[in-house]
Amino acid sequence: MLEAQDKSHGGEYTFGSQSPASSDLQMLEVRPRVFLGGAAAVAEPDHLKEAGIMAVLTVDSEEPDFKAGAGVEGLLSLFVPVLDRPETDLLSHLDRCVAFISQARAEGRAVLVHCHAGVSRSVAVMTAFMMKTDQLTFEKAYENLKTIKPEAKMNEGFEWQLKLYQAMGCEVDTSSTIYKRYRLQKVTEKYPELQSLPQELFAVDPSAISQGLKDGILYKCRKCRRSLFRSSSILDHNEGSGPIAFTHKRMTPSLMLTTGSQAQCTSYFIEPVQWMESTLLGVMDGQLLCPKCNAKLGSFNWYGEQCSCGRWITPAFQIHKNRVDEMKMLPVLGSQTRKI
Ligand SMILES: [Zn+2]
Ligand SMILES: [Zn+2]
Repeated sequence: MLEAQDKSHGGEYTFGSQSPASSDLQMLEVRPRVFLGGAAAVAEPDHLKEAGIMAVLTVDSEEPDFKAGAGVEGLLSLFVPVLDRPETDLLSHLDRCVAFISQARAEGRAVLVHCHAGVSRSVAVMTAFMMKTDQLTFEKAYENLKTIKPEAKMNEGFEWQLKLYQAMGCEVDTSSTIYKRYRLQKVTEKYPELQSLPQELFAVDPSAISQGLKDGILYKCRKCRRSLFRSSSILDHNEGSGPIAFTHKRMTPSLMLTTGSQAQCTSYFIEPVQWMESTLLGVMDGQLLCPKCNAKLGSFNWYGEQCSCGRWITPAFQIHKNRVDEMKMLPVLGSQTRKI
């Protein structure tokens, strides 16, 4: 709360909702030369010129129609099509949104971030910008923004995405467990019938590549030795907090300390790998079999499954640890192990 009223930002209150000039222009200056607004803010290009806006970021379902004219000459614009719904994937667009604002600012341009009502989508993007630029937590940035625009209220899906953004260090890391899990959760919303799945969802089949397995661990079918997945595909989770997890913690405190947090888990929860694709299409759950020998390896469920540690994982692609063998891929030994 104290940070939200930081004196360094106090001067901007003159641009707040009480300011007749800015309310006429339907926009608020949230940071120096960074404005927030709704569709009305771009309806009259002359107003943009009056406010000195030289860059416009639109996060809306419709792209504003900037007709050629004095108001829009030399105007930079970026349109990011998003709906104001909790299930909308805004996270994947945050990096380029924040980069656009920062770039405009670095060039000395005043920038407007707007959506339709100026309450949810643009607020979420602005909050991300404040988090990154001012190194604020999600809560502090959002609180700060709400002191400037009290009616700001992003939907709960965006709140959750901004917390993930924070957990990734305010930069979307598509190779991180956080992002991979997020992307998997979005799939069932985007493709409820699961008739086709985006290719980027699947990790490359380790049996299809002989190069590039520099380090890390390779997991092979215990029965037929076929390579199944790499350690980079494992989506780690913290132990569940349910009654099962509680019992385990009480009974085996020493085990916990010596073998780490995954000690109770009898399965690996992984991202989908290419060889699973035909199995996953069009069905919500089923078994995962070895693509070579058909041995049962585990199971999957788009609605989630519970790990032996008590944690629910949604969606779940689990491989039982006792069905696979770990194999360390050392740079030199990698090719030698194949020959044996
Ligand atoms: Zn577990
Ligand atoms: Zn096998």
